[in-house]
Amino acid sequence: MRFVSAAAALLLLTQTATALPQAASAAATAVSLPSPNLVLAGTVRGSQNQTYFSIPFQVPAGVHRITVRFTHDKMAEHTVLNLGIADPERFRGNSGGDKQQFTLSDSDATPSYLPGAILPGTWKLLISVPNIRPNVTAHYHAKIWFNLHIDDTSFTEHPLNSQRGWYRGDLHMHTAHSDGSCLNQTGQPVPCPLFVTAQTAAKRGLDFIAITDHNAVSQYDDERELQPYFDKLLLIPGREMTTFHGHANIWGTTRYVDYRVGTAHAPDINAMFRAAHRLSALVSINHPEAPSGEICMGCGWTANPPADMRLVNAVEVMNGNGGRGFFSGVHFWQSQLARGYRLTAVGGSDNHHGDWLPSQEGSVGSPTTVVHAANLSVAAILAGIRAGHVFLDLSGSRDRLLTLRAVADGRAAAMGDDLALPAGTSVAFTLHVVDCAGDTAKWYVDGKAVSALPSMPVASADATLHAAWTTDGRRHWIRAEVRDASGKLVLFGNPVYLNFDLTNAH
Ligand SMILES: [Zn+2]
Ligand SMILES: [Zn+2]
Repeated sequence: MRFVSAAAALLLLTQTATALPQAASAAATAVSLPSPNLVLAGTVRGSQNQTYFSIPFQVPAGVHRITVRFTHDKMAEHTVLNLGIADPERFRGNSGGDKQQFTLSDSDATPSYLPGAILPGTWKLLISVPNIRPNVTAHYHAKIWFNLHIDDTSFTEHPLNSQRGWYRGDLHMHTAHSDGSCLNQTGQPVPCPLFVTAQTAAKRGLDFIAITDHNAVSQYDDERELQPYFDKLLLIPGREMTTFHGHANIWGTTRYVDYRVGTAHAPDINAMFRAAHRLSALVSINHPEAPSGEICMGCGWTANPPADMRLVNAVEVMNGNGGRGFFSGVHFWQSQLARGYRLTAVGGSDNHHGDWLPSQEGSVGSPTTVVHAANLSVAAILAGIRAGHVFLDLSGSRDRLLTLRAVADGRAAAMGDDLALPAGTSVAFTLHVVDCAGDTAKWYVDGKAVSALPSMPVASADATLHAAWTTDGRRHWIRAEVRDASGKLVLFGNPVYLNFDLTNAH
């Protein structure tokens, strides 16, 4: 048995911590884990058949997550070593010979293991030896990571799909972990198990979802269990930070963020946002134009002091609104863009009834947020949202597309990108729309229709439309959307930005 010394372990911990920002900013294509903080190795001999032993190791203060990978050889000789773990005070789980790797943290743990406080002190791997032949000597190897970033930010360490492309999802929904309900076997509304919502999303063909229960972190333990089952549906850690003066989703961390704005825990809304960013989460303001007061307590965006919009990544411009027709946040969003902030327009069903049928507005995936990402991982989807490579599909289809590309001075920009251009430059726009034949494409400059960019009919199921606009060298944003014959919004694109010099800090 070999231990890395405590001093070396702390050094490794420090190195891991300093490496985190880089890991967070890189869109992962293939995951290689950092060096473990501890490596424990040893041997098991035939004389230990049907015995138990433990492997102690030290957990320093400041650890909130432990991840263990345990392997051994001589499996061909039917050597079996079963794995469990105990903290300084209690048994924390046993996965037998079933799982070679597990993680446990304050909020969530691999099934077989108990989430909860990670106490500093002496922990023990609990090893059972159901079988080892008399003449066999086996070698085991345990790698232990403290505060492994990928396990704090994702329920899978590998992308569910390695292809670059458009991925469809829902970023806002509620389950039994807050106020989501669905009908039980006798037709009574009860707290709705998270599985129901995930199953509905999978049946709808979504690629990702963020369960965003109000100020809760208990949902992550369910998601840790469900992610391997939903191997085509990425579960993004999410939470609706629900304050008395507005709601905001944070995505991409399982760590606790204090929602008690106005207290020493979070003196103002910006302190809460900074806490989320320190954990590499994205921040999105929800339904900002909802009413406040007793009709909907804390729903509208009334934060005071006001939010520093450099700390905000996105705004929910379409909210499912309980099936009462989409609730728009477009005016609020546009007013921020007019001030020079590049905030990605996203949608969210805000679904509270995971069993609603897909035909119902406000059901899971209605609206759908469609993100162009390097692959289907939490890091890549959030990078796509951060970059504004996003459109909304209000019909919740599986195939509709809206892509906008601008070319000027030999440079190209997609939705969410910025071009710095002098006055008098002609910008050529190419709008590609799929499965919207008979609908109409509309253009907006700084949120307004302009005569230089008239509406255009979408003539075919795979339509490419061209337009040009000459810039005056000032700051502008130009976007497109598609409406059906009745004027109903079908697809909503993010803008291409021109001459935006004020960019968000995160
Ligand atoms: Zn809300
Ligand atoms: Zn909500």
